[in-house]
Amino acid sequence: MSTLVFLEHHDGELQKDSLGVLGKAAQLGGDVAALIAGSGVEALAAQVGRFGAAKVYLADDPALEAPLPQPRVDVTADLVRGHGFDTVLFAATVLTADVAAGLAARLDAGLNWDLVDLTQENGKLVGKRPALDDTVYVDVGWKSEPRLALIRTGTFDPLESGGEAEVERLEVRLEDFSTRANMIEQAHEESEGPSIEDAEVIVAGGRGLGGPENFGLVEELAKALGGAVASTRAVVDAGWYPYATQVGQTGKTVSPRLYIAVGISGAVQHKVGMQGSNMIVAINKDRNAPIFEYADLGVVGDLHEIVPKLTELLRQRRAA
Ligand SMILES: Cc1cc2nc3c(=O)[nH]c(=O)nc-3n(C[C@H](O)[C@H](O)[C@H](O)COP(=O)(O)OP(=O)(O)OC[C@H]3O[C@@H](n4cnc5c(N)ncnc54)[C@H](O)[C@@H]3O)c2cc1C
Repeated sequence: MSTLVFLEHHDGELQKDSLGVLGKAAQLGGDVAALIAGSGVEALAAQVGRFGAAKVYLADDPALEAPLPQPRVDVTADLVRGHGFDTVLFAATVLTADVAAGLAARLDAGLNWDLVDLTQENGKLVGKRPALDDTVYVDVGWKSEPRLALIRTGTFDPLESGGEAEVERLEVRLEDFSTRANMIEQAHEESEGPSIEDAEVIVAGGRGLGGPENFGLVEELAKALGGAVASTRAVVDAGWYPYATQVGQTGKTVSPRLYIAVGISGAVQHKVGMQGSNMIVAINKDRNAPIFEYADLGVVGDLHEIVPKLTELLRQRRAA
């Protein structure tokens, strides 16, 4: 197998999920190379060997400054054609979903997306992905090469395996049609505290809170624990809390040490985004709520009574 892993980066840092996919590719074996495309990204290449790449291809060009997909499709397609990679892996993001789709069209290649695992079975690469609203996992394969795959957010943690990668600079050649789009503005949502993907502790609020004004309860508890606030789709759809905090099938996948679910029923579409947490604590007034089937610790009761008391207790402990 000869695998190319497309590495995404933001603000001068390689994205954690991309490095996780690279580590997985190295575990699967064969020749593993990485591609970094951007402008002024040379320093990033030095970090990549530690995560399992024997070689890093560097496409460093001002034309790649904006995070637009088409120029990246050109660079990746050139590289795959020129070096005959049989597998190209991406950690799924808004940008890589576009790049992978463009690459599939350009190379007439098969793309499997939303994968939550990759294995080798009898010498064949097999992907695992959820189906039927995340209620079952199915094995998926490819009929031809190159095999393209997008891996779901939060699936693989970066594994440091040591080592250095050889760096090769690429000549960037872009198609005329790939340079037509310009990035006019890029805005970042301001947020306080750790992001839910990086947080060790998450306190998530659901519809059981009763209204957006009660999210303060969840925020105070998260603050007392030094954690981040997450939410369910029901509250995001109701406009109570921002989408960036949504956990689940159509939101983010998280795996903190501690996940406290407050007023959350535990629907399967929520579960798939948080079941990798080390310890799940649920506070719900309905003892038959599905979340109690997979919580490590369940508290049956009214969140309005329990959460403020828990927050106060934690504050006292911290102060002592
Ligand atoms: C295709 C698809 C994709 C989806 N993607 C997602 C996703 O990414 N993420 C996601 O979260 N959902 C997703 N959903 C929606 C999902 O099916 C559920 O509807 C949603 O998770 C429910 O959110 P909730 O638990 O906040 O609300 P509810 O299901 O309404 O649960 C509220 C809970 O609060 C409890 N409660 C009420 N009052 C109190 C109180 N005073 N004290 C304590 N407990 C109380 C209730 O007993 C109840 O269990 C998706 C659905 C579909 C069909």
